[in-house]
Amino acid sequence: MDSVRQGLRAKDIEKDTYERLNCARCDERLKTKNDPDEVFSIRFCPACNRRWKQL
Ligand SMILES: [Zn+2]
Repeated sequence: MDSVRQGLRAKDIEKDTYERLNCARCDERLKTKNDPDEVFSIRFCPACNRRWKQL
């Protein structure tokens, strides 16, 4: 899984003027999911279900 930073660099994720993360493909605000088994949280797009890890 790519990190949020990689997603931003690849233009898969865009930051809006309020520093919120949006899926570049769907223009949807990314949602956050915390997985208790992982040290990172997951940012995902509710429309296309692509996921990125937030370190
Ligand atoms: Zn999407």
